[in-house]
Amino acid sequence: MKNFTRNVLWLLSFLGFQILCSSKTAVTIGVLLNDLTSQVRLPLNSVIYKKNMFDQNIYFTTNISAVSNSDSFEASRTLCDMMESYIGLAAVFVVDTPNTIPILESVCTNFEIPFIMTSWRPPVIRNPNQERALLSFYPESELFAAGLAEIVRSLHWSSFVIVYEEEEGLVRMQDILKLQEYRRDTKRNNIFVKQLGPGPDYRQLLKEIRNTTEDNIILDCKTENILPILLQAKSVHMLNLHNRFLLTSLNAHTIDFSVLNTTANITILRLHDPKTENFENAMHRWQLTEFENRNIQMQLDPKSIRTETLLFHDAILLLTDSISELSVTPGIETNAVSCSGNESTRDGFAIRNYMRIKAPSITLTGPLEFNKNGDRIKFNIYAVDIIEESVIATYFASNKSVLLARTGNESVDAAVSNLQKIKVIVSSRLGPPYLMARDPTYEGEVFEGNRRYVGYAMDLIDGISKIIGFNYEFQITSAYGSYDADNKRWTGLIGELLEKRAHLAVCDLTITPERREVVDFSMPFMTLGISILYKKPDKKDINMFAFLETFSKAVWIYTATLYLIISIVLYFISRMTPGDWENPHPCEDEPEELENIWDIKNCLWLTLGSIMTQGCDILPKGISSRMAVAMWWFFSLIMTSSYTANLAAFLTKANLEPEIDGAEALSKQTKIKYGVLAKGSTESFFRNSNFSVYQRMWLNMQQFKPSVFEESNGDGVNRVNSTKNAMYAFLMESTQIEYVVETNCNLRQIGNWLDTKSYGIAMPMNSPYRTAINRAVLKLQESGELGILKRKWWKDMRKESSCQKNSADDDDSGKLALANVGGVFLVLGVGVGMACIFAILEFLWNVRNITVEEHVSYWEALKVELTFACKVWISRKRTRTLLSESSSSSVKSDKSDKTDNRSMIHSILHSAGSFMNLENRP
Ligand code: GLU
Repeated sequence: MKNFTRNVLWLLSFLGFQILCSSKTAVTIGVLLNDLTSQVRLPLNSVIYKKNMFDQNIYFTTNISAVSNSDSFEASRTLCDMMESYIGLAAVFVVDTPNTIPILESVCTNFEIPFIMTSWRPPVIRNPNQERALLSFYPESELFAAGLAEIVRSLHWSSFVIVYEEEEGLVRMQDILKLQEYRRDTKRNNIFVKQLGPGPDYRQLLKEIRNTTEDNIILDCKTENILPILLQAKSVHMLNLHNRFLLTSLNAHTIDFSVLNTTANITILRLHDPKTENFENAMHRWQLTEFENRNIQMQLDPKSIRTETLLFHDAILLLTDSISELSVTPGIETNAVSCSGNESTRDGFAIRNYMRIKAPSITLTGPLEFNKNGDRIKFNIYAVDIIEESVIATYFASNKSVLLARTGNESVDAAVSNLQKIKVIVSSRLGPPYLMARDPTYEGEVFEGNRRYVGYAMDLIDGISKIIGFNYEFQITSAYGSYDADNKRWTGLIGELLEKRAHLAVCDLTITPERREVVDFSMPFMTLGISILYKKPDKKDINMFAFLETFSKAVWIYTATLYLIISIVLYFISRMTPGDWENPHPCEDEPEELENIWDIKNCLWLTLGSIMTQGCDILPKGISSRMAVAMWWFFSLIMTSSYTANLAAFLTKANLEPEIDGAEALSKQTKIKYGVLAKGSTESFFRNSNFSVYQRMWLNMQQFKPSVFEESNGDGVNRVNSTKNAMYAFLMESTQIEYVVETNCNLRQIGNWLDTKSYGIAMPMNSPYRTAINRAVLKLQESGELGILKRKWWKDMRKESSCQKNSADDDDSGKLALANVGGVFLVLGVGVGMACIFAILEFLWNVRNITVEEHVSYWEALKVELTFACKVWISRKRTRTLLSESSSSSVKSDKSDKTDNRSMIHSILHSAGSFMNLENRP
């Protein structure tokens, strides 16, 4: 009934108009809408209005009806009503009722009425020989899927999740799914596919996606669901700087994303470019028509125009243009047709075919071309960044290629502007000199925020933030970052980045191949290598009697005992051997008695002289004594030679290099233990090394008990310091060693670097701001700022004083200090001292003997003997005493012939006599 009334009204108005424009042919266009207030009425009204105004031959009218998407039969009935109306239909448009399309298309094909569609539909298998009424202005589904895949490829996402709402979404994703591949680095596929649940709460699914640590999401859902889903994504922290969304809906541009207030990278797709003149003119015309026709003043927002509206515009314009151009052809006349009748007798496909090949005058959705089936095969898809509102890539269906619109610099600018909008979270770990707690300047001072910390890393980030212009906040984590195979997750700083709790990670974080597979690194800001931290040899107590250490105590004792024994044996041998009994007066041929000079004194003297390599003024003459002495000489030769050889080694031992001079030396022994920091890059260097020396070291390290894996570098340094006798070495990064040995004077680096690597600032994979960070690091490097920072934290800011480089120590290496040979001086001193004491005792004893012999007082004798001894110029001494000569009794002592008691006084007198020619006296 409703339909009938509407048709009657429409007929009356049409007849009225016919009277006015009786010279024009009337053409009716049927429009089936889901919603009668649909936006497509804007281009419909505008195009028809303009056409009727300027077309001389044709007068266009529209027959608009509402149809329900869920009731195909009702829709087909509505279409039949339209066809049966007085004037019939030139073409039928169907908008927003995808479920009714199959039946409506079949009716139109049957009665040769061009059937025009402006929305997506899955590909249909058709009989290529059957002529069809369809003309779809929406991109052909397979080409559209290929376009989506090309755009995804151009985004260079290494992995992503496809989230789709309805099954048909997977048809659009079919070419994207072909990008699936197994990634050996992450040991999983690069594409995950998830279907949105019934909603409206999608948070569970979003959390699942977040737990996969995947940042890139392709969302295929109804336009009206996009915003709720993104808001929920934001509530589960999936709308951060690292998150990237690609929305496949062609109406996503109508969404107001500002409510999200996000720095996430959201890319939408469009078929049109709202900045073109055609677009602006069309908008203007639509507003004008509404005003002129219905007196409605509209202010259209280009963002509010749906893609179907634009497609409708292109479709209605092409249709009306085609009809105008074909108006001379009788086939286009539209007559009423009955649905109950048989096939159409008119040539309705002519309009559709003409539209298919006609070049459109103006389009708002880019290039337009159809294949034989009436599917659109020429179109562009624009990928648009919603923050920048700029096209980042354009897909051209005509040649199936993508043109990247954004230059590298524009991308960097976009990333920088995003960075400037947020507080950048910098994850770091406490460890000197990279990050340390700030010392309070007065008791009870409390710091907040970044002021809590100081160090190289803080200064580095500060420098970068000033160049790029962002705010940052440091967050502390305990570990550097290693893969926990049990929990299948990364720990420490790397884990923070992967779980999106930080935008940057900075400290002495080494760039390693394993880490590079899961996160990005900036340019290196420091270069280093693994080296060995070892204790300097303890300064040994100086041993003045080091020369005695040449032989063991036992050897010394045996030698001394032998010396005595040999002397005694020699004494007896020489007494027994006839050769040593000599004539005391060689002038006497037949002496009455023989003399043996080898008393015990001489024997001791001979053996001593031999072992001291000095020889002796008297030597034995007997065969057996000579033999004994020869054996003693042989013994002495070997002993003194061994002593000389050993002495050199012993005296210079303190200055010798330590036994450990590098990794190879360490690896070859197990006495000195060595270790590394647990779960750091140094540990993984040894674990993964293919070099036999390092493999051996790794095996040793695992076997050492107690464990040699330290929790921190500080623990390693303490262990090296506190282990007695330098029995522990710590393999550490050279920059750290440099820092430690600057003030820890008893530690030092041993050997060369075992490898070469660098520290870098880590950030989540494919971070858009990586280039900006790289440029900033480069700038700091070029300006020398990095060098200044290194000096500041390695030297200038040290509280402990730096170790003095003791060049004297180095120079003296190899030379013996006085202390090393002090014992020899001491022996000489003591020996000579004892000799002097003996000399005095001998002297005094001699004086006593003179006193007894000469019957003079002891003091008198002493005075004379001393006086004589001091007269060093007198070198002869008389055997007779002065005292006896000068004594008042003038008694000539016959005891003066005692030659072995020659006193000094005798000597003086003798000297004096010779001086005064006393010898010549009679
Ligand atoms: N810099 C190392 C890392 O990033 C930690 C220290 C080490 O392993 O020696 O893991």
